[in-house]
Amino acid sequence: MDIKSMSLQELEIIIKEKGEKAFRAKQIYQWIHQKQVSSYEEMSNIPLKLREILEEEYPLMKLNMIQVQESSLDGTRKYLFGLEDGNMVESVWMKYHHGNSVCISSQVGCRMGCRFCASTLDGLERNLKPSEMLEQIYSIIRHTGERVSNLVIMGTGEPMDNYENVVKFLRLLTGEEGYNMSQRNITVSTCGIVEGIRKLAEEKLQITLALSLHATTDEKRRQLMPVAYRYELKEVLKACEYYFEKTGRRVSFEYSLVAGVNDNLNDAKELADLVKGMNCHVNLIPVNPIKERDYRQSEKKQIEDFKNYLNNKGVTATVRREMGRDIDGACGQLRRRHMKNQ
Ligand code: SAH
Repeated sequence: MDIKSMSLQELEIIIKEKGEKAFRAKQIYQWIHQKQVSSYEEMSNIPLKLREILEEEYPLMKLNMIQVQESSLDGTRKYLFGLEDGNMVESVWMKYHHGNSVCISSQVGCRMGCRFCASTLDGLERNLKPSEMLEQIYSIIRHTGERVSNLVIMGTGEPMDNYENVVKFLRLLTGEEGYNMSQRNITVSTCGIVEGIRKLAEEKLQITLALSLHATTDEKRRQLMPVAYRYELKEVLKACEYYFEKTGRRVSFEYSLVAGVNDNLNDAKELADLVKGMNCHVNLIPVNPIKERDYRQSEKKQIEDFKNYLNNKGVTATVRREMGRDIDGACGQLRRRHMKNQ
């Protein structure tokens, strides 16, 4: 197992095996997660001999920053990282008034097959390890020199399809001995894997759950998201209610507006009826067109009308501000372009 994916307890075990005191494990853990160092060399209070042994037996996992694109519109940055096995993932860094936010990938590729999404076009390659998710954030912190206070797991991949690693990653990131990110500043987005939502509800985490809804009937949802063949809307929404009951956290519904598909006022009415009475927030996302599909964005007025309809019905809804439109903003586009160029 790689050392950056280890909990403090796991690290203590291997450090004790080396005949060292347990406090060394804590020191090393802090170097990795609080100071985000990229080499053992920088761990100046650790004996040289131990550093050499660890370097030999547990080389620190590193990402290779292949490309950084910066938006001239809003300063958003898109990072393309190379993994140790040659695969690539992308992450996004966004600057907001309330702090810096990073969007990370949880898998290399994705097998969920959502029709409008570029990340899934080539299927799933593999799951990311906790260290590979952490390192997307730590690399960006080193590169920008700024702290990251918010996280969304909305890049490539379905977090519930890599459940154990994602939860371990969340514990490492939010642990007091580590980076100590506030759980309330973290959002995990899922296409609606019911067992995953229910399990996550039991983890005693204060994170926000975002559900990719995108349609108001099973029939329509199936046209956009194959996962809807596996889980009916009814049970997905029940799982979301359960998540709220268990955690007290308001659920976010993501609804990507696609022109002529799910964006008329009848859809808005059905959506309002569907989520009525739930403690939730609707996030309207103007679909980001990908060239492999001919889905188009709704007109600005249509989007406004849709939002206003929901708000008038007492459903909190906002339109997601588009960021980084000039830099392959949509999930999976940058990675895809790079793979094609190789
Ligand atoms: N697999 C997870 C998280 C990844 S995508 C999920 O399905 O939720 C994060 C959000 O972006 C999801 O709501 C997804 O449906 C949406 N999305 C993906 N591609 C998009 C596109 N081209 N335009 C608009 N939204 C998109």
